[in-house]
Amino acid sequence: MLRTSLIHGLFALGSRLVRRQARRELAVLRWAERADPDELRARQESRLRALIRWAYDTVPYYRQGMDRAGVSPGDIRGIDDLPLLPVLRRRDVRTDLDALVSDRAHTRDLLPQVTSGTSAEPLGFHRDRRTVPFEQATKWHSMEWAGVTPADPALVLTMERDSVRVSQVTWWGRMVGGASIPLEVIYSREPAPIVETLERVTPAVVLGYPSLLHLLAQAVLRSGRPLRARPRCVFYQAEQMGEDTRQLIAGAFGVPIFSRYGAAELSGLVAQTCERGRWHLNPEGFVVEIVSGEPGDLQARPAQRGRLVITDLRNMAMPFIRYEIGDIGTVAGDEKCPCGRTLPLLGELDGRIWEWVVTAAGLRVPAIILQRAMRFHMDLLWEYQFRQDRVEELEVVVVPIGDHGEDLQEELSRHLEAVLGGGMTVRVTPVARILREPSGKRPVLKSTLDQGR
Ligand SMILES: [Zn+2]
Repeated sequence: MLRTSLIHGLFALGSRLVRRQARRELAVLRWAERADPDELRARQESRLRALIRWAYDTVPYYRQGMDRAGVSPGDIRGIDDLPLLPVLRRRDVRTDLDALVSDRAHTRDLLPQVTSGTSAEPLGFHRDRRTVPFEQATKWHSMEWAGVTPADPALVLTMERDSVRVSQVTWWGRMVGGASIPLEVIYSREPAPIVETLERVTPAVVLGYPSLLHLLAQAVLRSGRPLRARPRCVFYQAEQMGEDTRQLIAGAFGVPIFSRYGAAELSGLVAQTCERGRWHLNPEGFVVEIVSGEPGDLQARPAQRGRLVITDLRNMAMPFIRYEIGDIGTVAGDEKCPCGRTLPLLGELDGRIWEWVVTAAGLRVPAIILQRAMRFHMDLLWEYQFRQDRVEELEVVVVPIGDHGEDLQEELSRHLEAVLGGGMTVRVTPVARILREPSGKRPVLKSTLDQGR
């Protein structure tokens, strides 16, 4: 009870009304964790039918699209009928923004936003202001699964110019004495100040993007001694965590790793991980499909591995129906999660869809293939980033650990050239640091080539 009231008392931002609604939403999210899967699906499909009807009746973009496809709202009886509708691409949102807004949306319901974007261009859209309590509830819920309350000190790895995270740290720090490690210190790769901060703050949770957690864990391991006070868990979001980072964190902290998955365009978190490390979906807010086809294909059929296409069941002001979010994932098997929760599962999240290296032979090699190859070199590197501006050449920017000169460069370029195949030159460029994007994220690949986005 104490824990609950702390969550409500301290996590809550915004007006009293928003907090009250968020508490109600949180109660439903908790109930849904162990509800009958058939009942969850029935609720989800009932919301879906209402959304499709609403979109047809009040949103010009969908009315025209469905008329063109010869589909009426009555044809969409459930999730399995969704492939009758075309995919909504980022470029459609960009070109048809006005037509995507409901005729019946009140100005006060529209919350204009722009994504920060990592590799993609920024995207303008409207959130539905009425979904704010739901979003808040999904965030509380994900922290609850990690066993973290706002009374727990947190160490947040901050970003340059990341006002959201900085304000979160400031607020958290004021309430319960959390702390942040400035990016400068993480970049310095000096174990002493990092370990000193960890032991002074004794955080219950370390929060950050995987690319920064990676550097933090390396610094802790390099200090050469076990931490006197370990956090209870590590929490990440916004980027996918590679196996190399996972292993480093296991070595440095030996604590569970939690994550959550969402996007600025959506009305809340789409999925979050449980203590068993599995991704549980949020059917109270979304329908998640995994579909075949190249990025940008309007046709999309169910697949075992492929593009994530998400329908937001909550945004009525500007509905997102079958929205291609730009991530790749896999369907979960039939087995139940050992955590006992009945919420549907997602298999894996495999990163961004558009992170491709285009080769001289015209192939598109997913960055994840190259990331796997890089695993063999990570004992010599702090971090790296792929950059491509010409089809014949890939540049790998690396921050070496210690003094590994030409041998490393030689070995790395030979290995990656073998992975990419004929005609490609891989240039390895050692640097002192890799700068983050204005959002604070570090895309694994920066490319100026057309990636079919
Ligand atoms: Zn689970």
